[in-house]
Amino acid sequence: MEALSAATQDEVRRHNLARILRRLHVGGPTSRSDLVAFTGLNRSTVGVLVAELADAGLVVEQAGATGSVGRPSLVVAPVPESAVAIAFDVRVERLVGAVVGFGGQVLARQEQVHRRSGFKPSTGVKQMVSMAHALVAAVPTGVRWIGTGVGVPGIVDLSDGLVRLAPNLGWVDAPLGEMVTEALEIDFGSSPATVIGNDADLGAVAEHVRGAAAGSRNVIYLSGEVGVGGGIVLDGRLMSSAGGYGGEVGHMVMNPLGEVCRCGSRGCWETMIGRDAIVRGAGLVAESAEVIDVVRAADLGDTQAKQSLADAGDWLGTGIGNLVNIFNPEVIVLGGHLGDLLPQVSGVLFDRVGNSIRPSREQVTVVAPGLGRDSTLIGAAEGVFASLLPDPLGALARSITLVPR
Ligand SMILES: [Zn+2]
Repeated sequence: MEALSAATQDEVRRHNLARILRRLHVGGPTSRSDLVAFTGLNRSTVGVLVAELADAGLVVEQAGATGSVGRPSLVVAPVPESAVAIAFDVRVERLVGAVVGFGGQVLARQEQVHRRSGFKPSTGVKQMVSMAHALVAAVPTGVRWIGTGVGVPGIVDLSDGLVRLAPNLGWVDAPLGEMVTEALEIDFGSSPATVIGNDADLGAVAEHVRGAAAGSRNVIYLSGEVGVGGGIVLDGRLMSSAGGYGGEVGHMVMNPLGEVCRCGSRGCWETMIGRDAIVRGAGLVAESAEVIDVVRAADLGDTQAKQSLADAGDWLGTGIGNLVNIFNPEVIVLGGHLGDLLPQVSGVLFDRVGNSIRPSREQVTVVAPGLGRDSTLIGAAEGVFASLLPDPLGALARSITLVPR
């Protein structure tokens, strides 16, 4: 009985520690009195938990602003360098990497373009490792690396980081999790855990935690890269599915007689609103132009560009209307090039969304991302911090102290 009680007490302590950590990670510096109010714990319990986090180096206490009672309240601030994630967003023609600290601060960021053809999993891993060195050289010596997060435009087996299919990269059954961990181990001597995720899922998590959908419980993030993906947060949690492969809204068939898609099907949504479709529709070459080039051409009066944007807006609105009917979300975030499209096509888009079921349509807003082009990158880091928050001391014990080579 006594053992059980001790175990339960420890569980309660860990739970409270995790709540305080999450609050600091997402909300930034917070006064002790606000932590007391937030947790509902008493002042001395909060003091003990904060002291534990300070001992671990995760937080510092600073004199804050004078409170209403006239006494300065201590402010508890996360220490970004105390626990960092190395995050990557693998895109079809670009690799973006960052070191993200506890609290969500980006300590270093790099990006590199690559050609679409010939970008194999092994090429990607090599580039990630060399970028990791450049990133580490740009942050203070001695940061504690707790894990690596990687976003990929494809469907991923979350249990082992196997990329089952990334149609626009041409990757099939690539054991990316293993490959990244092994390559980092060889180069850094050791490597903490690697988490691989779908780019749109990670974008959804980041926008839900600290972006345009913060505070909303039902969110859809549409990633607009070369293809189109979907990350769906329902009742505050990323939607799970049988294999974790759900949410592939870009492959909803909108026209069975339409163009052949990279997934092998025909007339998928991404063959209408993907980057290549919009660029080609405007008469530009797919691999050398971006949607923003089409927007510029349309602004200059190019009628073909205008028509391409209008068509994309029409199909974007039609698909969003379907999603509104199925999921009844509060917020739909348009990532990547779909966000560039939004101001250009809002008229036709909202007309089409207007055809969805009224009670659902009345609750939804469609917005650009709060994190710009970095939603997936930040989401990849959040995937790593997900292991720190429930068990900070364990995660720190497994961390690696980074020194530039
Ligand atoms: Zn498809």
